[in-house]
Amino acid sequence: VLEDEKTEDYLFKIVLVGDSAVGKSNLLARFARNEFYPNSKSTIGVEFQTQKLDINGKEVKAQVWDTAGQERFRAVTSAYYRGAVEALLVYDISRWQTFDSIGRWLNELQTHSDMNVVTILVANKSDLKDAREVPTSEGKALAEAQGLFFMETSALDSSNVAAAFQTFVKGIYDILS
Ligand code: GDP
Ligand code: MG
Repeated sequence: VLEDEKTEDYLFKIVLVGDSAVGKSNLLARFARNEFYPNSKSTIGVEFQTQKLDINGKEVKAQVWDTAGQERFRAVTSAYYRGAVEALLVYDISRWQTFDSIGRWLNELQTHSDMNVVTILVANKSDLKDAREVPTSEGKALAEAQGLFFMETSALDSSNVAAAFQTFVKGIYDILS
């Protein structure tokens, strides 16, 4: 938790991790601006976006970091992870390969981030029911085995998007009160 001395606000860094095209940038676009890009080609990534949240009467800022496509080259640097208190580890329920990659991303996250980073396994694109390759039970089992939270989301229809980002933020209630 970084405390901003001027305003006494609280700032939390959240990072988005996962294979290319799983929907990381659109999850952020939905969360921060309530927008969705049907044909984004991994180019809409910004360095980070800050979203203000009200927790128990205190202003909390979630600073969400997105990649600019460097995950394609497995070139996400340690600076990206540094200081993060929450990580969303995202896969696409319609592509097995992106679920298979989770172990590798988890490894990378554990190597570069603080040990106690709250990690949420995010099964995105839950709206693609007919194209589903990864059953919910598989995601849940992996999350349980690795001690992660689990959430199925859709950036397209908004389901669970805010809940996924706020999993940690809800938990800081005690810290702030
Ligand atoms: P990133 O590379 O992980 O940042 O993925 P993007 O956010 O750029 O999304 C890749 C593609 O998947 C885009 O065409 C998005 O419109 C699409 N997409 C992202 N989230 C969803 C979702 O929840 N449902 C569906 N159907 N498509 C999505
Ligand atoms: Mg992106």
